[in-house]
Amino acid sequence: MDISRVTPMMQQYLRTKEEYPDCILMYRLGDFYEMFFDDAVTASRELEIALTGKDCGLDERAPICGVPHHSATVYISRLVGKGYKVAVCEQMEDPKEAKGIVKREVVRVITPGTVIEETMLDDKKNNYLAVIYSGGGVTGLAFSDISTGELYTTQVIDTNAVIDELARYEPAEIIINEDADGIFSKKLTARFEAVPAIADDDLFEYESRNEKILSQFHKRSLKELSLDGKNAAAAAVGGMLMYLEQTQKSSVPYISELSFYETAQYMSIDAASRRNLEITETMRDKTKRGSLLGVLDKTKTSMGARKLKQWLEKPLVNPVHINNRLYSVRELNENIMLRDDIAAALSGIYDMARIVSRVALKTVTPRDLVSLRLSLAKLPELDMLLTKTTSPVLQELSRGFDIMSDLRELLEYAITDDPPVSVKDGGVIRKGFHEEIDALRNAITNGKQWIAEVEAEEKQTTGIKNLKISYNKVFGYYIEVTKSNLKDVPETYIRKQTLANCERYITPKLKEIENTILGASEKITNLEAHVFEDVRSRVAQETERLKNVCDAVASVDALYSLAEAAHKNNYTMPEVAHDGSVQIKDGRHPVVEKMLKSAMFIPNDTMLNTDTDRMLIITGPNMAGKSTYMRQVALITLMAQIGSFVPASYAKISPVDKIFTRVGASDDIASGQSTFMLEMTEVANILKNATKNSLIILDEIGRGTSTYDGLSIAWSVVEYVQSKKRLGAKTLFATHYHELTDLEDKLDGVKNYRIAVKKRGDDITFLRKIVRGGADDSYGIEVAALAGVPKEVISRAKEILKDIDDGQIRRERFDSDTPETDSQLGFEDMAAVEIVEKLKVMDVTTLTPIEALNTLYKLVNEAKGM
Ligand code: ATP
Repeated sequence: MDISRVTPMMQQYLRTKEEYPDCILMYRLGDFYEMFFDDAVTASRELEIALTGKDCGLDERAPICGVPHHSATVYISRLVGKGYKVAVCEQMEDPKEAKGIVKREVVRVITPGTVIEETMLDDKKNNYLAVIYSGGGVTGLAFSDISTGELYTTQVIDTNAVIDELARYEPAEIIINEDADGIFSKKLTARFEAVPAIADDDLFEYESRNEKILSQFHKRSLKELSLDGKNAAAAAVGGMLMYLEQTQKSSVPYISELSFYETAQYMSIDAASRRNLEITETMRDKTKRGSLLGVLDKTKTSMGARKLKQWLEKPLVNPVHINNRLYSVRELNENIMLRDDIAAALSGIYDMARIVSRVALKTVTPRDLVSLRLSLAKLPELDMLLTKTTSPVLQELSRGFDIMSDLRELLEYAITDDPPVSVKDGGVIRKGFHEEIDALRNAITNGKQWIAEVEAEEKQTTGIKNLKISYNKVFGYYIEVTKSNLKDVPETYIRKQTLANCERYITPKLKEIENTILGASEKITNLEAHVFEDVRSRVAQETERLKNVCDAVASVDALYSLAEAAHKNNYTMPEVAHDGSVQIKDGRHPVVEKMLKSAMFIPNDTMLNTDTDRMLIITGPNMAGKSTYMRQVALITLMAQIGSFVPASYAKISPVDKIFTRVGASDDIASGQSTFMLEMTEVANILKNATKNSLIILDEIGRGTSTYDGLSIAWSVVEYVQSKKRLGAKTLFATHYHELTDLEDKLDGVKNYRIAVKKRGDDITFLRKIVRGGADDSYGIEVAALAGVPKEVISRAKEILKDIDDGQIRRERFDSDTPETDSQLGFEDMAAVEIVEKLKVMDVTTLTPIEALNTLYKLVNEAKGM
């Protein structure tokens, strides 16, 4: 495009757009934000607003669409919600006073990971921006939530761990350096909604990023931040700070603390297992309801809800830390009065953490400050309750608890009870806080009174009885004296007008009052804005203290939530063990037990250790409850490690370093892998990354391929995992391959369990009880009958099964002889062999009833046609 041909305003637009090529540029024109060219086409489509054209000097009219400035937030949030970045370009001077083109500047870039607007955020979830930097075989990760001021960083060597860390945070936006993009881009695109954006190397430049980090956290060396020698993590953090500054167009001083952690500090749960176990959201519709978090979240504040979610995302491994949390949960669980009182104190606390960020970013509203004041007013009550506690974590929170009365008093004193949303609307600053504002308000309300007082005063000093003060638009306020009294007019009066029988005067004092009255409302607006800014910056000075108290409130709330959930759901406190065992008595699945409406959940025991009971092979019919049982063991372990009570009558849990689950056939069409391929990828990941301290849940490994391939894989996986030399991890292994139950006698540490069913005649009843021993039968035909497969097919299936068992239909053994060649067979035999071949590769246990029915029909017909 020939830029010299377009109008001057358009030239300004195009120059600005050049700087923000990856953003939709919203360009302020009077009362509208306008978008042009491709941005206009995209925005009109995404926002469903009209696309028109504008003459701008080119042959064709430029596509344009616009949104009113007062409702821009709604439109911006829609665009950002769809993953776009929006650059907001404002008018930087009053158009009336501007000479030539109005000066404009981009004041903020809003991206999915840097949103601070309340309306664009979920208050119970952090909104993370992730920066990934790979270099020299190491990857640094930084995660920040600028709406709360949190910043976490770590670095890892293993590429899988990068994906697992990202899965903890589920970032809304991912920034990545070129090297990292080369390694991770495919995996990231398949796994995360946020499309990774490659950043220039400038963002990570050694000198500037280190300088940035040190000045941000007021430190002299990276060592003070535990970042010495952590080049990749430092690059990620530095890049993060640079990016935030670029988007916010200001520094972010309230991100004042950097938490470096080693991934080993927390239990690692890979992305697939996190999904499978439905820890914070369900697999199907990604809602919190139906997840573990849904059951445990009884928090009263948004800060507490986010904290609890973080705990679930980062289960602890250190027994001391786990116990410390557990002791506090126990204290709140046992002391009902204390728990109820804490709940009441927490109930009135608003999302202070996000208000604090808005204070720092200068987008806080007067109403936010009232919410902050009301929240601070709740702190003394909470403080008093905390002093009554005795458990270590609550005691520590109590010791450091700052009720911030000074700030509360300031806000009480400064801001009215019910201010408008915008300072511009006035009525924000409370009476008595600022003399001049009070005087101005007095001037307005008492204006007439004031004039009347001046009139009386003048009458008295001049002795002119009929002197009066009036007002007109030309002179403003004036003193009127009739001709007969002119001799008494003092010299200080300034004559303005002579009428037939009177003269009109003004005095400096009168003009002063007039200025005060007339300019008062405009002055009040400006002054209120000024004073509000002053109050805001005084609040901003207390950011550190506020952040600390927010964190304390969040922790108290999360502990309260765990105690309340334990009480409501009848959980018990787990014992933290050190011997590697996981022992559960009467364990229940925390979510399934809540979902069962008519039936009661049947509790089950678990015994796992590092010696005799390392690998439990679990058999039982479909629908018996194998998956539920195994997940419940994983969830109870995880709950214990976040410091929660658990659904069991007794539990003794040794912390595990990692939980892996390979559960169900979760198709991942997006990643372009087949079900079996995906299953094997997950198995490979488990075998490579599990340690002897891990807990592994494997559900029907090998079901996605032919029976013998599947059995062989399952068999060899059991051997590998069981072997102390190779892995020796605690494992629950559900299978329909009954052959695997032979392994109990062959391999040490293997124990067979089955989920009991009762068979009476042709009927089976699920007992849901786990008992020692292998299942003698798959009951596949019985389950098919339960599912409503026609009687005729069921009885024929039984006949066929019997024939197979009796050897009338040859059952190919696992270690079979070489099959006879076709040339030796007659036509009928060939057909029979074909049927047998088909049966061989068929896994009856994994067929759906309909598939079973169809297959049987086909086989029966083929047999009849022989
Ligand atoms: P499949 O092999 O077909 O996957 P499964 O043996 O893994 O089946 P689950 O999916 O675990 O079976 O359980 C089936 C249903 O049984 C669950 O949805 C739940 O409603 C019920 N169930 C499982 N365990 C219990 C239990 N302990 N008490 C009561 N109901 C249970």
